Amino acid sequence: MEGVVIGVVVALAVICGLIWSNKGGNFLVGFVLGLLLGLIGLILVLVLKPSAARQQAGGAALTRQCPHCSRAMPRDAAICPNCQQQSAPWLYHEGRWWSKNDAGADYWLDERSGQWIQYGSETRPAEGSSNQPGFSS
Ligand SMILES: [Zn+2]
Repeated sequence: MEGVVIGVVVALAVICGLIWSNKGGNFLVGFVLGLLLGLIGLILVLVLKPSAARQQAGGAALTRQCPHCSRAMPRDAAICPNCQQQSAPWLYHEGRWWSKNDAGADYWLDERSGQWIQYGSETRPAEGSSNQPGFSS
């Protein structure tokens, strides 16, 4: 009897893991949820969505401020849909958004603080970091 129970619990955990990985999450996370919480874990993986990390990678839904008309535009767009003016698009690379300043130095956006960090100087924020570098037209 005990063996059957363990079998059911493990099967449930595997199902949870498969559902979670189908949604783009980590299989192990779903597996552990199912293992620890049983049916509640199953409900959780059915209802919840994997964290934003993966969704952010799409990037298309994220916007930046147009340097010309100050309205929101897609981060990776070169031409503003509102004013049709051109500006350097941001690039999504290795989990970060990147841009260059006038001098051609690479900056990446720290999403938590909203600050631009110069590549290679990760410990201190970029100068005038509240603003996007390189677009002082
Ligand atoms: Zn614009």
